[in-house]
Amino acid sequence: MYFTDNHIHSLCSPDGYGSMTEMMEASYAAGVRHMCFTDHCDMDNYLTGAPDPDCFSFRDRMNQLYAEALKAKPGDMTLCLGLELGEGNHNPELAAEIAASPELDFVLGSLHNLRGTVDFYEMSYTDETFCRNLLDLYMGELLELAGLPSFDVMAHIGYPVRYIRKAGFSSDMTTDTHGDRLRALLKKLIESGKGIEINCAGYRNRYLNDSVPAFDILRLYKEMGGEVITVGSDAHKTEQAGSGLNKGFDILRSLGYKYVTVFEKRKPKFIKLD
Ligand SMILES: [Zn+2]
Ligand SMILES: [Zn+2]
Repeated sequence: MYFTDNHIHSLCSPDGYGSMTEMMEASYAAGVRHMCFTDHCDMDNYLTGAPDPDCFSFRDRMNQLYAEALKAKPGDMTLCLGLELGEGNHNPELAAEIAASPELDFVLGSLHNLRGTVDFYEMSYTDETFCRNLLDLYMGELLELAGLPSFDVMAHIGYPVRYIRKAGFSSDMTTDTHGDRLRALLKKLIESGKGIEINCAGYRNRYLNDSVPAFDILRLYKEMGGEVITVGSDAHKTEQAGSGLNKGFDILRSLGYKYVTVFEKRKPKFIKLD
């Protein structure tokens, strides 16, 4: 069985390195045969939290790099083009307009910062009360985002937890701490035909060393009948290409999934696991 990677960045992302061709070649060497580029397109500036109406200004560059990668790809590699669209709930009109770009195969819906605040990466985590409040607000915004039509798969549910761990705090977002709202969130996603991802970048994070979302949330999704589930390395440089995908695929199998989901022209396609 080959790997699929539905979450990978190139130098079109502010925190990405490597052209799409370089990222594709490194992924191919790591056993990936179906991949989709998902460069960052955030509604807000990550350093200030202020709206960024020009967030898709890299579109021409993206299309050019993608065309180059298509020319360079091996015959047995399927290469798709998508976006990681951040904070769609902060500007639903712009998010919908960008998501409707005809070249896109796939759109991840992310939340990297709360309304009017900096990226979770940039925040100072002062105490457990702060962390708990932050997770409650994050959960509330995920519920807002889930109702919007501007994405296919919700990215890295539980994203702020890695920064909470890094700051030395233990506040968590699990089926114990946020059960009712997680159920409501997953129900909303399932009913609107959207999916979730197993983001494998958390395995590279020494404070977390886990999938995002964590296993109990993934299990809840499966129990609720969720079938649309992608796997992504969230690689930002060639050394990270394909990393953690084996663990993501192991989780799929351990949950009883027979298929992994990929997207082409915004439609889910199910590839059999063996
Ligand atoms: Zn992200
Ligand atoms: Zn990403």
